[in-house]
Amino acid sequence: MKTVLEFLSYNLEFQHPFGLAHGSRISTPSVFVKLSCNNMAGYGEATLPPYLPDTRETVLEFLQQVQADQLIVTDPQVLHAYLHSLRPESLPAIAAIDIAWHDLQGKLEAKGVHQLYELNGTSEAPGMFTIGISNHNEIQEKVAEAGEIPVLKIKTGNGMDKAIVETIRRFTGKPIALDANQSWKKDVNSLKLLHWLNKQNILFVEQPFHKNENDLGTIYKDSPVPIIADESFQTIEDLDLVTGQFHGINIKLMKCGGIYPAIQIIKAARKRGLRILIGCMSESSCGCAAASQLIALADWYDLDGPLLLRNDPFKGLNYLKGRINIPSGPGTGVLPVGIFQGNASAI
Ligand code: MG
Repeated sequence: MKTVLEFLSYNLEFQHPFGLAHGSRISTPSVFVKLSCNNMAGYGEATLPPYLPDTRETVLEFLQQVQADQLIVTDPQVLHAYLHSLRPESLPAIAAIDIAWHDLQGKLEAKGVHQLYELNGTSEAPGMFTIGISNHNEIQEKVAEAGEIPVLKIKTGNGMDKAIVETIRRFTGKPIALDANQSWKKDVNSLKLLHWLNKQNILFVEQPFHKNENDLGTIYKDSPVPIIADESFQTIEDLDLVTGQFHGINIKLMKCGGIYPAIQIIKAARKRGLRILIGCMSESSCGCAAASQLIALADWYDLDGPLLLRNDPFKGLNYLKGRINIPSGPGTGVLPVGIFQGNASAI
């Protein structure tokens, strides 16, 4: 039984420049992997926005160390023990292998990944449409572009939260999920702003303060709007840090190392009463299809990364009014288009 691990670099290009509190970008570097065994192949993705400690180079270095035959195991815990023995902090690289392994395992068992974990294949959570930091006219255009998608996920920054929400409210009363991306200062005005936002049909505020400011104290207790940790929460080890300081966590496969660790986090977080958002790092349909397998476990999901891209190299992940249809195919349910053909190991 010959096992082969191939990988290639790719730039995921946005349809429009994507504005965030820490700058705007036009593309995101990625590495895609293909794990083959018994004439079946599983695919995975590491996508690396510039604010992550990992880069494409660190991911490629990690993948070059991996011995493919060590990946043919039936227990994901054994898989992760091996990957962590190589370099435990390389979580996007570990996520890429974890996703490919789950995709392959599902194909070998003719099951979707959610079925491997006996999870539901549907979710009642509403679809979200992301609007990066934009000016007045762009906001109007993007609100129109959102069409029937029921929730707007907006990025704010530079003290512009109120102005951006007020602008959106000129065009729509849809619920808003607000991602402040660490841009607020923790002072008396924070609670005032949270109370104002509460009157604006806001579902939650994500990561208002710097990732090292995790002692939210009275803000956590008195906020009428749930506060969700994103940059403050990476892996299961961070649960102690965020419990009693945040109302929920944003779990991303790139942050935690893939599907298996994400499920462990969700189980532990639920016991602590935390709410669950499943998010992505502007990944392609490969990473988002993997994350979509878990949406039955989440209160909300924010997996519209592929909709923002113009060169998504995978197909099979479909949205209806922003809601994901978990792909019905085996594994993660998506397949590559135009990559991994011929000389697939080219970097
Ligand atoms: Mg965020």
